[in-house]
Amino acid sequence: MASGVNIDLSGRGALVTGAGRGIGRATALKLAAAGAKVIVNYNSSQSAAEEVVEAITSAGGEARLYQADVSKSEEVDAMINVLAKEWGAVDILVNNAGITRDNLMMRMSSDEWDAVIDTNLRSVYYCTRAVLRTMLRNRWGRIISVSSVVGLTGNAGQANYAAAKAGIIGFTKSIAREVGSRNITANAIAPGFIETDITASLPAEVKEAMLKGIPMGHYGQPDDVANIALFLASDLASYVTGQVINADGGMVMY
Ligand code: NAP
Repeated sequence: MASGVNIDLSGRGALVTGAGRGIGRATALKLAAAGAKVIVNYNSSQSAAEEVVEAITSAGGEARLYQADVSKSEEVDAMINVLAKEWGAVDILVNNAGITRDNLMMRMSSDEWDAVIDTNLRSVYYCTRAVLRTMLRNRWGRIISVSSVVGLTGNAGQANYAAAKAGIIGFTKSIAREVGSRNITANAIAPGFIETDITASLPAEVKEAMLKGIPMGHYGQPDDVANIALFLASDLASYVTGQVINADGGMVMY
């Protein structure tokens, strides 16, 4: 029997950071398929991002490409200002952009620390700050940030990444408290091991060890995360805020 559940994001503007590849790409495609008009932000992967825009528009959706390094406040502010004039409001923000620069603490350079904190955490602050005023005025908004199970558990060799991803969780809960009364929700998604470029370079033995810790017995796919972003962006999640939702096949339970 049909459930009658239908996610309709038509009339909503969405910005997905780092949407040319991986989880960001899958999320942009899902939001657009549900009717949102989507900004496909990228930093360096221009042709991949162009393909995402092409996939959306050829399926009858609406999308626009925008290059910006989201670790730089001036680039984020310029992006949001241009979009406000030429395109409309960002109602749904998906803070997805992220990098790794793994190293053991005793060897981790300041550059490795800064790159990860700037790209994975500062960007969340810059993008949220830039879109929040309009969300407050419109009394509707969705802030969805991609954290990680590593932000919950920690991981040897990833102190910079874990700090950024845990930071996203504290940030999300604070924003949820600040703006909940204005019908704006803020939630985080904590993926486990998702097959994308970021995990492709891990040594085979590390991947095998991780697989043993996944009760469902297989790695996740970008759509497993994108489906949660779609839910959080929708009216189905209108009473969900300040939460961390894992997409990890049961890797971390708490
Ligand atoms: P990915 O395939 O390597 O994609 C990373 C994305 O981030 C790319 O689209 C990249 O854009 C973008 N990006 C990096 N620096 C940027 C910057 N300064 N400005 C704008 N965009 C930037 O990795 P992924 O797995 O899809 O990761 C997406 C998010 O999920 C990240 O936050 C990651 O930490 C998180 N995550 C992933 C996993 C996993 O297992 N895959 C697990 C937990 C959390 P360009 O290519 O254009 O530079």
